[in-house]
Amino acid sequence: MKLVNFGSLNYDYVYSVDHMVLPGETLSSNSMETFCGGKGLNQSIALAKAGVSVYHAGMVGEDGESLIDMCKENQIDYRYISKVQGKSGHTIIQLDKQGQNSIILFPGTNGLNTLEHIEEVLDYFQEGDMILLQNEINLLDQIIEKAYEKKMKIVLNPSPFNEKVKACDLSKVSMFLMNEIEGYQITGEKEPEDILNVMESKYPSAEVVLTLGKDGVMYSGNGMRYFRESFKVKAVDTTAAGDTFTGYFLASVIEGKSIEEALKIGSFAASIAVTRKGASSSIPAKDEVENRLM
Ligand code: ADP
Repeated sequence: MKLVNFGSLNYDYVYSVDHMVLPGETLSSNSMETFCGGKGLNQSIALAKAGVSVYHAGMVGEDGESLIDMCKENQIDYRYISKVQGKSGHTIIQLDKQGQNSIILFPGTNGLNTLEHIEEVLDYFQEGDMILLQNEINLLDQIIEKAYEKKMKIVLNPSPFNEKVKACDLSKVSMFLMNEIEGYQITGEKEPEDILNVMESKYPSAEVVLTLGKDGVMYSGNGMRYFRESFKVKAVDTTAAGDTFTGYFLASVIEGKSIEEALKIGSFAASIAVTRKGASSSIPAKDEVENRLM
């Protein structure tokens, strides 16, 4: 079974400021750092660190070489990342002294996927292969359609949730990976139990993994439900918690581990990530997760 993650690749430009810039104000930043990110790339990095062979598909612009280098460094197969005219997706992040952020997201080439590119990518995959998707690229509905026609297993992290996700035929999704906010947006319910009830009745054949931050994670699928508490740690930055969980949970499922075991490993890896600052750099390597979990 092969795994492809069709998702975003972004540069994150992080400016530390004394306060968020006000309308009409020009503000000098105290420092500036550039990171490679995007939900798509972060999840591919988490999968690769968890020991899975992952193909990342998507688009970068003429400035995209460092994003591709990041894939190379992490042993992510980048043959289906196309370099096209234009600017890669990026974010401009202001980080204030209280640790709050405000973010401008420019989709750039993440919004330039074409039907041709989708066909070319999916041609390489077969029935039973897995495709992971988030909502930071264009033509999400088309990718779901084509992957479904190919009888691939479609795993969707419906994030960020918006009209574009609503327009997709979600009955074609095999597994939803989402947090409470997305759970609420998709079902209109706030309580985790109620979110799962609605998901089970609307999408009876799908598996649902609902992460609850420090309160743990719930699973529903194949007529079973599980709850797993989070590991108690001192969190300093929860940025890549969900992406780390996704990588290690899916890797465990792919390795044939039980759902309970996969929830445990995903939660443990995510609990390490939240004790460290940063996004993809905070995702632990497989050795560390295995050694500390023993
Ligand atoms: P997202 O980052 O997508 O919002 P969550 O915040 O729900 O995702 O976190 C995903 C998983 O990460 C949780 O199910 C939990 O296992 C782990 N996690 C998140 N925050 C903490 C925390 N403060 N302490 C321990 N584990 C955490």
